[in-house]
Amino acid sequence: MIFEEETIFDDSNNEISCFKCNKDLEKSLDYKNYKICPYCDFHFHMSARERIASIADKGTFTEIFNKITTSYDEIAQEEIESYDEKIKTDQDRTGLNEAVLCGTSKIGSQEAIIIALDFGFLGGSMGLIVGEKIALSIEMATKKKLPVVTLINSGGSRIQEGVMSLMQMSKTVAAVNNLKNANQPLISILSNPSTGQVMASFVALSDIIIAEPGAHIGYSPYRKLKELTGSIESNNYLSEDFLNSGFIDNIVPRNEIKFELTTLLSVLKPTFALKKKKADTVRSQIDYKEINASNSLQLSRKIKRPKSIDYISRIFNEFIELNGDRSGGNDTSVKIGLGKISGEPVILIAQHREVLTRVSSNNVSRNYNNKIVPSGFRKASRALDMAQKFNIPCLCIIDSVSPELSLKSEYDGLAFSISELISKKLNSENPIISVIIGEGGSETALAFSIADSVMMLKNSIFTPLSPEEAAKIKTGDKRKANEILKTMRLTSADCLEMGIIDKIIDEPEGGAHRNHDESARLLEESILEEIISIRDIFPKTLSRRRLKKFRQMGEYSQKYKPALTEEMKIWRTALTAGVSSLRSGSKLKDK
Ligand SMILES: [Zn+2]
Repeated sequence: MIFEEETIFDDSNNEISCFKCNKDLEKSLDYKNYKICPYCDFHFHMSARERIASIADKGTFTEIFNKITTSYDEIAQEEIESYDEKIKTDQDRTGLNEAVLCGTSKIGSQEAIIIALDFGFLGGSMGLIVGEKIALSIEMATKKKLPVVTLINSGGSRIQEGVMSLMQMSKTVAAVNNLKNANQPLISILSNPSTGQVMASFVALSDIIIAEPGAHIGYSPYRKLKELTGSIESNNYLSEDFLNSGFIDNIVPRNEIKFELTTLLSVLKPTFALKKKKADTVRSQIDYKEINASNSLQLSRKIKRPKSIDYISRIFNEFIELNGDRSGGNDTSVKIGLGKISGEPVILIAQHREVLTRVSSNNVSRNYNNKIVPSGFRKASRALDMAQKFNIPCLCIIDSVSPELSLKSEYDGLAFSISELISKKLNSENPIISVIIGEGGSETALAFSIADSVMMLKNSIFTPLSPEEAAKIKTGDKRKANEILKTMRLTSADCLEMGIIDKIIDEPEGGAHRNHDESARLLEESILEEIISIRDIFPKTLSRRRLKKFRQMGEYSQKYKPALTEEMKIWRTALTAGVSSLRSGSKLKDK
């Protein structure tokens, strides 16, 4: 389909006022530098050159592959003269030889290849020359081991070139596959509009996708979709909708994109790394006597106990949250992102709980409604893939009781997404560390906790089911939780003794809730120590060691015998209770 979307081009003869809110933009620096209306945030059209200038370090951009031209005689579908004329007109208007401008550049002092599509040149559509220049630029990045940043502003297809324009999709994807195999990052920035063949080919394969606010993005041009469905308004089908449905990572205003790119590149392609100073390691002395089940249960549920975001904001610098599982969901109870901890690049996967209701005893109510859904597990898997690809240590923070139990969740693949995450965790060839910061409950905690080094905050707990649920199964009364709590072996000390975790991290006196800053400091210290000690282990060795560790977990031995016997007792009772209730159920039916 040919491109026919509305776009706002500047008309320098007129007074400059905002197309949307009508305000005067004459003196606005945001408008001058970024073509943004500071009053209503409208993002105006920008040429490829202007876009590159907005992200590249001054004077560092050098155009590449600008001499590539071809005769369209053999591929043009319409009158060659008419197509030639259109090309010439747009060449004159834009000063470009085709709809794409490629080059080498520096972004925040980091080398990269930039590919910018110009919507002012035949709608930024991808014909033979555009596809060829994109493929050549990506291949150059692969060869030189450079990241690729694409600035997308394109729609529809180059119908004048018929099926040859279609073939540019597979051509550019082939180039991206090689870039991916070379583990080089591909980051795409989408502006209004970003639709059509480029989206359904190399752009959608980007490691990170950022869109400008209010941009029409997707496969179909907005107008075409409106024509077909009749129900789409101009405030539909926007980047914001794609963020919610899990297909893009972030929405960033144009004037902040350079900073975002600089941060992303510095994490994905770090230029230096920390070294461990062995002599300086100070181990805090854990007082094991202080750890007991009822105390841990109570402290792990304190409303004021720091949650994932409290630690993230204190431990990370330059943190960028990413969004989406890239298959239709964005579970906000799982946070993923990348950043640096004391200058060390880290990819984060964190379970995030919010206290939604409070109960009088100052304990956290069990009624969290942001339980993890399948898309949360898939989001975690995606972050793990990214960590593996760029060989960045992955930090997992665990704080959740159970996944969302519902029919919707089941049909969305709860069991499948959990098992996929466990499998990926075991196979991954990059360093993974995990830490349970509060309540680590159920299969959710297990899947997220698998790591080379599993740690627990001193007063956190790790258990397949809550003491209340265990009591309900065992005695039929969940109020008897305290009675069976002692037998559950859910404290950090129990888990360390059973070999389920590798380390306990100390908390401030009286519990983590008493001093968030101190708690974060203790956590950061342990995280860094673990990362630095496993970071340089050969990838295959890491994965082999991790597989072995979890294969041997709880392997029957004299050491675990007493613990296992106790666990078996609970389960046997639970089983009997289950069977008897089944029997009474069937008796009723018989009658
Ligand atoms: Zn405005």
